[in-house]
Amino acid sequence: LETRLRQDDKMRALGTLSGGIAHDFNNLLTAILGSLELLADMVPPEGVMAARLLENASEAAKRGTLLTRRLLEFGRPKSSALQPVAVGPLIRGMQDLLVQSLSRHMTEDGRPTGRCTLDMSGVAENGTLPMVMSDPGQLEMALLNLCINARDAMPQGGSVAISSRAERAVPDGPVNVVITVADQGCGMTADTTARIFEPFFTTKGIGSGTGLGLSTIYSFLRRCNGDVRVDSRPGEGTRMSLWLPVCESCRALDAVSETVPRAVLP
Ligand code: ADP
Repeated sequence: LETRLRQDDKMRALGTLSGGIAHDFNNLLTAILGSLELLADMVPPEGVMAARLLENASEAAKRGTLLTRRLLEFGRPKSSALQPVAVGPLIRGMQDLLVQSLSRHMTEDGRPTGRCTLDMSGVAENGTLPMVMSDPGQLEMALLNLCINARDAMPQGGSVAISSRAERAVPDGPVNVVITVADQGCGMTADTTARIFEPFFTTKGIGSGTGLGLSTIYSFLRRCNGDVRVDSRPGEGTRMSLWLPVCESCRALDAVSETVPRAVLP
């Protein structure tokens, strides 16, 4: 518990710090981008090389603004109201987006990677799991992020499996709905596993990783009173699990849609 509280404090402090820096950086980058655009208009037609250099500089500055936007989001305290969420329909509703995100991809040096396929056979049938208390938009972002990490861990291609089940977080404890994203990729060493929830920790190259994905997911799950667990072995693959407390007050099953009457748990 103490480690977790320390991690929460660290996240808050880093959030404030990164938000402040990102804000100032964004203003500077906007000024740089504006000047580059003006300069580009002044390049004479024969200045092909100068035009290309300016374009490179603009691309880099645009990447910078994207990154600072992510940092700003990370630093902004999110106080979204939690609501009952049906996990099965939410995951199934993401199928097209996930298939798309997994199929087309390039390596950092521009070569196409192997194809990743999505396996949803382990997602519990709609109507069989309890509802959870969460934020549907942020939960979707978290799952997308986990799938993209799984894809990045398998440059040769492979299968990304999403599954869901109900389980007690501790014996005799409250029931959670657990969503697991599993890959057969490179896996992680114990040293990497110990650091993945730290903001800005990334093993991906500059320009492709921000190191903010898992720390954002961790903060979000903590806001839901849930947890993120990782099970990974180098060379064998990774299982990332989101633990979400069930919605005690609604006591309804994971319904197909809002219009279908929900079965009441015994
Ligand atoms: P980013 O993806 O930008 O690097 P994350 O916070 O999402 O940031 O991930 C941090 C690091 O955790 C990654 O750089 C990678 O080293 C490791 N990691 C995350 N997911 C996986 C996975 N499925 N397999 C192997 N390593 C992973």
